[in-house]
Amino acid sequence: MPRHGVSPGQGHRRSGLEQESDRTRGSPRLRLLWMGLPLIMALVLWAPAGAHPLPVQSQHVGRLVPQLRDAFGWWNLTCPVCKSLFTAIDFGLKKESGVEWVGSIATKLCKLLKIAPPAVCQSTVQLFEDDVVEVWTRSVLSPSEACGLLLGSTCGHWDVFSSWNISLPAVPKPAPQPPKPPAPGAPVSRILFLTDLHWDHDYLEGTDPDCENPLCCRQDSGLPPASRPGAGYWGEYSKCDLPLRTLESLLSGLGPAGPFDMVYWTGDIPAHNIWHQSRQDQLRALTTVTALVKKFLGPVPVYPAVGNHESTPVNGFPPPFIEGNHSSSWLYEAMAKAWESWLSPEALHTLRIGGFYALSPRPGLRLISLNMNFCSRENFWLLINSTDPAGQLQWLVGELQAAEDRGDKVHIIGHIPPGHCLKSWSWNYYRIVARYENTLAGQFFGHTHVDEFEVFYDEETLSRPLSVAFLAPSATTYIGLNPVSPPSLQVTGSTK
Ligand SMILES: [Zn+2]
Ligand SMILES: [Zn+2]
Repeated sequence: MPRHGVSPGQGHRRSGLEQESDRTRGSPRLRLLWMGLPLIMALVLWAPAGAHPLPVQSQHVGRLVPQLRDAFGWWNLTCPVCKSLFTAIDFGLKKESGVEWVGSIATKLCKLLKIAPPAVCQSTVQLFEDDVVEVWTRSVLSPSEACGLLLGSTCGHWDVFSSWNISLPAVPKPAPQPPKPPAPGAPVSRILFLTDLHWDHDYLEGTDPDCENPLCCRQDSGLPPASRPGAGYWGEYSKCDLPLRTLESLLSGLGPAGPFDMVYWTGDIPAHNIWHQSRQDQLRALTTVTALVKKFLGPVPVYPAVGNHESTPVNGFPPPFIEGNHSSSWLYEAMAKAWESWLSPEALHTLRIGGFYALSPRPGLRLISLNMNFCSRENFWLLINSTDPAGQLQWLVGELQAAEDRGDKVHIIGHIPPGHCLKSWSWNYYRIVARYENTLAGQFFGHTHVDEFEVFYDEETLSRPLSVAFLAPSATTYIGLNPVSPPSLQVTGSTK
């Protein structure tokens, strides 16, 4: 996987709230079945306090199973009984009363374990319960998966987060070409790199910047004690996002840094009030901030990528095989409409299906915008099937091969950086980067809120650096960060 670095003198990361908790252990046997729900709640609620924490390691469920078998006497369970049990559980859970029941247990646990203030527990569970129960009954609690895990492969097949491989074309890899400086007088492009704006519609000056909720400086934060100042007019060094005026000021002040040929905008538009967000709230953030970007950047083409906060519940990005009201079509359709003037018809088509696209901003350059939520450890929909969700990586290989055949260069943009992904996704991405090192000229991500980079090394010796991903700092101050004026990149040299 890519290795991480932090640009000298840039940004800082808050830590200390990134550890997995084991406070959900020690429950009676039945409660174990619902363990996943509070775990997901816990993950979601703790994540904001640690900004965008380093990825939590995958659950090594397989290693726990023998201990759980011993502890709960599952050895006595036969395969048919196991499957009947889980069929009944799935049936019960999918009924409305089942979802409510799971929700009430999760709310009680959340309050009991003091995962969040009671009102936040209540709202979060209400927001997540429907989707999470849907996912759990289709994945870990499905008779085949659950009994495969509990009783072994003779009873069912457990492949949640199992490893997988995309296939690379038979075309031999061209000999690596060391990067060389551009010729004197080569053409120069200026690209603005925007990420993690996180507009808080409810930001309110004077409110408590250190409230007990996961996000403060807002209407529901209350007032600070007399000994402490309230939230500032432009923002605050605390767990707060930004008012619209600060984003407006940031965008209006870009003039001297330009003019720009294009903009890479790598997602996370709404605020971190993830316990209380409706689809309407998310769409208001999308259209309001898109309009603001258009207002200040005018005709400059903007190429967006989908962040993990664009959806609600946060991180909830079902792959395209999920249809109906649970699907992401409410979001992708709105994005395609809001971004129509920036993207080609071909790009809008794949955006509507899976939130990713490719286009050619200029001859010789292919831009690929990935939906990195399909690599995310926090995207609970991937419990159903995490194998190359939406076929995105296989599609990426096709795009890169076509670019190699044409002699084009490629830039990749996305939100979550590849080093923060599910292990199998990350390794497959790594293989692709290594295969197409001559074609891939740049990678740009956000999500961590700090100024960092990830270095990719060759697969043979793991010592020859062959690509770098740039991670831009956030516009938002969340948490305790300086609101960074967006970096601009100077891409020199012909793209060929
Ligand atoms: Zn963010
Ligand atoms: Zn993010």
